[in-house]
Amino acid sequence: MQTIKSLPAIAVRGVIPIPNNDFRIEVGRKKSLDAIEVSEKDFGQYLVILVQKDPLLEDPTVEDVETHGVLAKISMKIKLPNGNFKIKFNILERIVVKDFLFTNDYFVVDYDELETVVEGNDEEVALVKMVVQEIAENEATVLQPNNNVIEKIQQGLSTTKVVDLISYFLRMTNEQERYKYIPEVSLNNRLKMILQDINREKVMNDLERKINEEVKKSIDENQKEYYLREKMRAIQNELGDKVKREEEIEELRELIIAAKMPAHIEEKALQELARLRSTPSAMAESSIIKTYLDFIVALPWYETSEDLDDLSLVQKSLDKNHYALEKVKDRIVEYLAVKIMTKKNPQTILCLVGPPGVGKTSLAISIADALNRKFVKQSLGGVRDESEIRGHRRTYIGALPGRILNGMKSAQTMNPVFLLDEIDKMASDYKGDPASAMLEVLDPEQNAKFSDHYLEEEYDLSQVLFITTANYLENIPAPLRDRMEIVELSSYTEHEKFEIAKRHLLAKQLEAHGLRADQFILDDNVIYNIIQHYTREAGVRELNRYIGALIRKAIKEILITKVDVVHVTLDNVTNYIGKPKFSHNIADKKDIVGVVTGLAYTQYGGDTLPVEVTYYKGKGQLVLTGKLGDVMKESAQTALSYVKANAERFNIDPNLFKENDVHVHVPEGAIPKDGPSAGVTMATAIFSAMSNKAVRSDVGMTGEITLRGLVLPIGGLKEKSIAAHRSGIKKILIPRENERDIDDIPQEVKDNLEIVVVSNIEEVFANAIK
Ligand code: ADP
Repeated sequence: MQTIKSLPAIAVRGVIPIPNNDFRIEVGRKKSLDAIEVSEKDFGQYLVILVQKDPLLEDPTVEDVETHGVLAKISMKIKLPNGNFKIKFNILERIVVKDFLFTNDYFVVDYDELETVVEGNDEEVALVKMVVQEIAENEATVLQPNNNVIEKIQQGLSTTKVVDLISYFLRMTNEQERYKYIPEVSLNNRLKMILQDINREKVMNDLERKINEEVKKSIDENQKEYYLREKMRAIQNELGDKVKREEEIEELRELIIAAKMPAHIEEKALQELARLRSTPSAMAESSIIKTYLDFIVALPWYETSEDLDDLSLVQKSLDKNHYALEKVKDRIVEYLAVKIMTKKNPQTILCLVGPPGVGKTSLAISIADALNRKFVKQSLGGVRDESEIRGHRRTYIGALPGRILNGMKSAQTMNPVFLLDEIDKMASDYKGDPASAMLEVLDPEQNAKFSDHYLEEEYDLSQVLFITTANYLENIPAPLRDRMEIVELSSYTEHEKFEIAKRHLLAKQLEAHGLRADQFILDDNVIYNIIQHYTREAGVRELNRYIGALIRKAIKEILITKVDVVHVTLDNVTNYIGKPKFSHNIADKKDIVGVVTGLAYTQYGGDTLPVEVTYYKGKGQLVLTGKLGDVMKESAQTALSYVKANAERFNIDPNLFKENDVHVHVPEGAIPKDGPSAGVTMATAIFSAMSNKAVRSDVGMTGEITLRGLVLPIGGLKEKSIAAHRSGIKKILIPRENERDIDDIPQEVKDNLEIVVVSNIEEVFANAIK
């Protein structure tokens, strides 16, 4: 029986109420709150709940709600902080809306209650059984969590209620679909619908699981593959490393045996090898041991080359490779004669002393060639620490053997010719004295047992033929010098340089550059031009470099312009190597007051050393500039005192010294200068400045002075005179005591240079002042 009733109604969205359930929603819309208020006030808390077709609509009209709904009673109402109400309804019956009576502020509807049609037949029994079974078996899959369905079934709830319960808690892919359980009045149909939904849910669930599994499987497989690959690589590395390391260690063992080192050293090396094997390769210690072993197997332990010991060969080799230097070559041959006679190394060490580029190295190479020995060279320039000679102890990473053993390593034989270059440039400091280590190296009594900190064992240097070089004899530490047979080489004259270039340098450079002699013609006067105007040196290094540069330019020209021959003349030489560097000879300069050309002896050979003097208002002080050493400062002081003391005799107003400061400057100030030979030059410059008399620019001078005006002797006369000649000076003034050294001066220089011997400074003034 259906009786039409009227009640206020609210529309809900997103959730579907089903009878026989509690229904909790949050209510916020004004329309609904009004309806609820009216219901509470006038309708005993009863109302109708309708379902919104589209959950997104904010303000649904009559058309927007479903035709069927439920009858409900408010059982609880709580105000929330946000102004909304949480309301719990008991859902009582299904209804169908007959009419909307009121739709303005809220809905009021006429409705009919719908009764469930229960067949009570076998079909129903079967359906219920199926549903219950499905639910029991697949509860988690088909029902929403926190349901009490199974409990209720067990409590023996009526079928209608159980069905409502299930349809309320069924999982739905689309919630809106649950609405279909409201209009359906047949219980059997609802049961069928539930079975369908369960099935669909199961299928969906299966599908989902399958997809998940597949995804998971593919991820797992990727991960597994990655993991396995990584593992495989690690294993391979590990195995590979091990195998490689074993091979390496085996190889080292063979090298150690093959090196034929003294038994006790071999034993130690094998111990180290065992230590290497047991040290993981990742540890720093491992590479320290490895480097050490690599080094000792690379050292020569028994190999020697057989000496030719034919003195005529030595003579030939020296003659073939070197122009002039007769005295030097003689000395070398004599030195080696002793070696050949006694069949052992001489007690003293040959030391070739001379400016750079005069052939020291190439002489040593010739000696090695002639004796059929290997040649090695180590520079000692700048060595200030003993460990550079003897090596560092092997206790830290980066420790190295010293230069001597490094040289031996590259020699590969026990008896090379070993050139120790620039032995005069060693310095000692707090880290120990390298010179004393060198003493041990060079002492035939001791060097069979040379000890290197890195090697930790004694090494036999007794078969090595050491040759040393130095630029400056004075700088060689005295104990070392005592062990040496000094052979001095001096600067070359222009003519000698020309001959060296013509006979040796040119041919060597052509060969080095792969050019035939008929493809390159160099005029003689060009060679002289280069010597005079492009270089200013004691040796022939720069000259050699210029010849190399000319040949490279010629090759370029031949390749680009396809000419057959390049001919370098005075006219075209600037096209190849640019303008001359030294175009003015000192002698071409004007005679000036207060400027004097001194002559100096440096480690680069002889050189001119201009001295300038001027004075200005002051308090009688001496101002010195140009980085002068102490000896030179004292020379200046002495020179000034001498001129001052003799002012009246020289017709110089003594007040000049009182009222002025005298300034002595030695140009090219960045180069430190020292040495006892500038006294006369300074005295002359001071005299010239104070007496206002010009000095002849083509006169050069050298000598120290005393307060009495005596001229004291100097060293390096030969070098100084060659330098004077090179600079175009016409006359040099030298101390009387150096007269005996005039013999050493090359004839070519003597022919072009007037050499005046002086005893006192007044003779100097007489020759130099105009
Ligand atoms: P140093 O060792 O004295 O500085 P080098 O031996 O390096 O000089 O000589 C520089 C170049 O000059 C080398 O190519 C060398 O062959 C050459 N040289 C030097 N002097 C002569 C000479 N008298 N005869 C032939 N070539 C020489």
